[in-house]
Amino acid sequence: MGGIKLDIPLIEISGIGPRFLQRLAKLGVKTVRDLIWHFPARYEDFSHIYKIAELEVGQQATVQGIVKKISLRHSWRRHLAIVEATVEDGSGELKIVWFNQPYILNVLRVGRRANFSGRVTYSEENEIYLSHPAYELVGRNETKHTARLVPIYPETRGLTSKGLRFLTQPILKNIETLDEWLPYEVLKTNGLPEINAALQKVHFPKKIDEALAAKKRFTFEDLFLLQLTNLEQKFRLSKEKAPVIKTDIEHLKKVISELPYKLTLSQKKSLWEIIQGLAKAQPMNRLLQGDVGSGKTVVAALAAVITAENRLQTAFMAPTEILARQHFETLKKLFAGITSINQPLVGLLTSSEAKILYETDLESKIKKSELQEKIKNGEVKIVIGTHALIQKDMAFGNLAFVIIDEQHRFGVNQRAELARQKNLIPHLLSMSATPIPRTLMLTVFGDLDISTITELPAGRKNIVTKIIPPPGRAEAYEFIRGEVKSGRQVFVICPRIDKAQTNADNAQNHAEKSPRESASSLRKSALLWEVKAVKEEYEKLSKKIFPELKVAMLHGQLKSKDKEKIMKEFTAGKIDILVSTSVVEVGVDVPNATIMMIEGTDRFGLAQLYQFRGRVGRGPDQSYCFLFADSSARTTKERLKAIVKAKNGFELAERDLEIRGPGEFLGESQTGFPDTAMQGLQNIELVKQSRAAALNIIQKDRELKHHPLLKQKLAEFQKAIHLE
Ligand code: ADP
Ligand code: MG
Repeated sequence: MGGIKLDIPLIEISGIGPRFLQRLAKLGVKTVRDLIWHFPARYEDFSHIYKIAELEVGQQATVQGIVKKISLRHSWRRHLAIVEATVEDGSGELKIVWFNQPYILNVLRVGRRANFSGRVTYSEENEIYLSHPAYELVGRNETKHTARLVPIYPETRGLTSKGLRFLTQPILKNIETLDEWLPYEVLKTNGLPEINAALQKVHFPKKIDEALAAKKRFTFEDLFLLQLTNLEQKFRLSKEKAPVIKTDIEHLKKVISELPYKLTLSQKKSLWEIIQGLAKAQPMNRLLQGDVGSGKTVVAALAAVITAENRLQTAFMAPTEILARQHFETLKKLFAGITSINQPLVGLLTSSEAKILYETDLESKIKKSELQEKIKNGEVKIVIGTHALIQKDMAFGNLAFVIIDEQHRFGVNQRAELARQKNLIPHLLSMSATPIPRTLMLTVFGDLDISTITELPAGRKNIVTKIIPPPGRAEAYEFIRGEVKSGRQVFVICPRIDKAQTNADNAQNHAEKSPRESASSLRKSALLWEVKAVKEEYEKLSKKIFPELKVAMLHGQLKSKDKEKIMKEFTAGKIDILVSTSVVEVGVDVPNATIMMIEGTDRFGLAQLYQFRGRVGRGPDQSYCFLFADSSARTTKERLKAIVKAKNGFELAERDLEIRGPGEFLGESQTGFPDTAMQGLQNIELVKQSRAAALNIIQKDRELKHHPLLKQKLAEFQKAIHLE
């Protein structure tokens, strides 16, 4: 039969003009496939044909009748061309009005029969009429625009749903027959339509149920492929070899008993899960998630200590130099207080410095090349650093364990990079305080094992959180002054450095290159009244508002040395107010800081705001979080209220997913993700179905030998998405 092939460029289809092609290209539609896969966003139901006599005002309705009169007049005052028609259907007459569509006269000639779908309205003369309805001559062909469920497409300037329907319908009629690649049993079990029927019905359904079933199929497709990808990943990893890291439980207990605090139950449970993973000869791929301040670091550090006792190496990566140094300090303190460990050599390696910790409290600077040598020969057991750790010039003697802080997903490719010099693959633990919504956990993160710290250490105080509208600013400042007088410290977070330099800033500092900032805030920046730049804010606070206090600023453009100096001074209490970009978003721990003030809250995701707030409330004193809202819009307030009310980060994560979509969790690089998949990621039921289906197939046919079409599709899918 042949038919129109999917891969044909639209330019080769006769009857599509260059202007249309251009507009389609704007929607990313270049081939027949693109056009057919440009699915309706929704449908309008014009399927019932009403008698004119039974119409009611306010209804969306279709009538079918014969044109009795039609004429064009101009309303000069409002520069409108008005087409007025009278249509009759045996039950009565109806007036119809269109604006600025004079060409209608060429189509709707007197005596012609047509459908009209639109809203029934009252005129000033108390007559009902149809205002600006869709119209279509009744002939031999099936209708596209009226008297049916009408597809409404995502549109672009100059390309309406009507235009798209016009293009799509004839192509769909003549399209080649496609091979079904979803296994029959999957279709059957999940009530999904076969591919060819689904394509017809997603565009031109007879009933809404058909449309929904078709849409479900396409969403399911992506979820299913994603699940297969996860399973494949897991399977592949389970065939790799990893170094076995054994734990002497009695010894570990002793070490834990020497900690300055008691581990929480879920810290212990997570540590237990981790050491069991490390003890296996297959690489662990685990995410440790827990709210801000839940104490993930010590859990990871203990696992690193165990690894060191096995005479194997750990690479501990942090997203910023500030955090890397902080972890180095944490380990220093940890070892200082513990006598039951033979202290391993700990190194700090960032792009700007190299340090080594010899004995308790004895640290010294060292040449980078020298440290690298000691890492290469396996002497240094725990290496803390930034992404510098996975640069090409790095080599480990016997790397067995990789910890990645504040990153919820770490690419398998990056891991391979780290482990390159050996045929053993190291165990991997990533840590994140950004809780991941359940649907994402089961899909995009489905290849990970997960440990969760569900409780905060005992004695943490509630953080008083307030939304401050513009008039409340002065009062907030006075309050801050008072707190600083009694010895407390303050964080002020601003969204960007300054207008021009965001990109440079993003490029320079990995941690600040948050996808939220670049994508979403760039989009919004035009709408903002004021950009709260760190520099401006610093000037204002240090000169005008708090001239008597010590104010400092921190941002990604500072040299690492200066950043470190400022963080050191802040930690030591020598700085009262620290104005910063999101560099303090993750991990920073200063218990005497009790006030978190956030400017430009519109620009941050909820989970991110929650993270900021978690920077305070770490010491014995009452802490506060002030959320400054530039806009008094209700949506802004509601969003912020979610933070005020939030009991934990999980709720917020679910909200973020609803409000801002999965991009927030997946990062910028997920461009290969189709829209249908994005919607699917919000549908827990479908996620579960796809998971069960994938598992079922893989259990019977691990290599997909009996499903060659599926196998091919999966390969294409994996090429298109990048889950790194
Ligand atoms: P996060 O999970 O956000 O990375 P950290 O590991 O930075 O949290 O821990 C936050 C603070 O809590 C640190 O000062 C740490 O010493 C402290 N801490 C960790 N575990 C406990 C515990 N079980 N009891 C008391 N304090 C703890
Ligand atoms: Mg942390």
